[in-house]
Amino acid sequence: MTALGDLLAHDRITQALAQVMGRLGWDQETMMPKRAGEQRGEEMAALESVLHARRTDPRIGDWLEAATPGTEAEAAQLREIRRSYSRNTKIPERLATEIARTTSVAQGIWAEARAAEDVAAFLPTLEKVVALRREEGQALADGGDVYDALLADYEPGMTGAEIALLFDRMRPRLVALRDAVMEKGPAPMLAGPFDTDLQLALSDRIARAFGYDLSRGRIDLAVHPFSSGSGQDVRITTRVDADDPLGCLYSTIHEVGHASYEQNVDPAYGLTAIGQGASMGVHESQSRIYENQLGRSPAFCAWLFEEMRARFGQIGVATPGEFTRAVNAVRPGFIRTEADEVQYNLHIMLRFDLERALMAGDLAVGDLEGAWNDRFAADFGRTVTRPSDGMLQDVHWSVGLFGYFPTYTLGNVYAGCLASALSADLPDLDASLARGDPSPATRWLAERLQRHGTLRLPQDTIRHATGRDISEEPLLDYLEAKFTTLFDL
Ligand code: ZN
Repeated sequence: MTALGDLLAHDRITQALAQVMGRLGWDQETMMPKRAGEQRGEEMAALESVLHARRTDPRIGDWLEAATPGTEAEAAQLREIRRSYSRNTKIPERLATEIARTTSVAQGIWAEARAAEDVAAFLPTLEKVVALRREEGQALADGGDVYDALLADYEPGMTGAEIALLFDRMRPRLVALRDAVMEKGPAPMLAGPFDTDLQLALSDRIARAFGYDLSRGRIDLAVHPFSSGSGQDVRITTRVDADDPLGCLYSTIHEVGHASYEQNVDPAYGLTAIGQGASMGVHESQSRIYENQLGRSPAFCAWLFEEMRARFGQIGVATPGEFTRAVNAVRPGFIRTEADEVQYNLHIMLRFDLERALMAGDLAVGDLEGAWNDRFAADFGRTVTRPSDGMLQDVHWSVGLFGYFPTYTLGNVYAGCLASALSADLPDLDASLARGDPSPATRWLAERLQRHGTLRLPQDTIRHATGRDISEEPLLDYLEAKFTTLFDL
């Protein structure tokens, strides 16, 4: 075989093993017995060491040197393999294995500490995770910025400094909008109870309407919904609560956005280095546009209102308008995952500044809780009284995901760009959404963006889909227009 053929054959097996690793992670969140955590940590570490050896195989360096791509897709695969190889050869195997083992166990420790509202029980573990990820960041950064090196894993081409500037531009308009909506008083609320089987049946119906292919996927329950896998096996989880049907429905739509992206990648790219979403930020743009610009639009809400009345009877609100305001309510709250579109990015900004300080060594793990609570009071005007409302609320740091949080806001920014291009191309979209049919929009996204996988770099992926440069303006314009109309500002 040629160098290119040998390289791609080697990479295909690595990609397949990475899918297996992902499925173990899915199992850990959905099916794994409670006391299997420690052994699972060993299993994940073992697989990680196999993957690390494959990704750092010295033959890759030789193959990359000799390989000549024949197509655009092959050139993109070489680019991605080169990026992975250069990253992974900078990390000693001992460190990679230690990170996999520690973060796998840390997740359980975080969950117990959170349930017990006990920060002290989590701090020694977090210390270890932070130290390991800093060590990794230093190895990757080659003397450059540690945080940027970690960020590059999730959003290649973006830097912490650029994100800080973006956030500075966004913050004042978001704060002004939040204050204006809140001044209008509390939004309407749904009143149940809502039978959980009926919720899951409706959630299933909506998942299909948004294009999720259940012959290549499945829906299970998890405490924190997520999607997992690529190509022919892309699974999602959702949650269900008899008092809060919107949590179930919108978690499902969000995860369907992620899963549809993976399902719609050109099958020719399956089990290759470009067979997945282009980055965490681009991924989040798909989940957020499905969830927000489509799923929380007044047109779709009007359809959903009728569906819910038909299924649940009285739901506590009497008109489509009231229902739409309930779905888009802006309320004071501590929890990021429950935040509305206006406040969500403010939660991300808090985490971004704190994790950047942790990675720079400017903030000690022992001071994190105090720093979090001070910052929350400054940004949201409320006092955090229990750690599950504060620094223990998110799983990310326990599994070492430093540099990940800002991709949520980048996703929202990208979604704003995509939604603006999409509505210009599809002037009749609202009529379709009002029939509960988002397919013109999801087809547009599949064609313009999803099918290309990682053929292009993240920001080029968005530029290619929209034909325009990336900016936060479309997102902020959309939010201001929508909330001004909805809440009569
Ligand atoms: Zn997401």
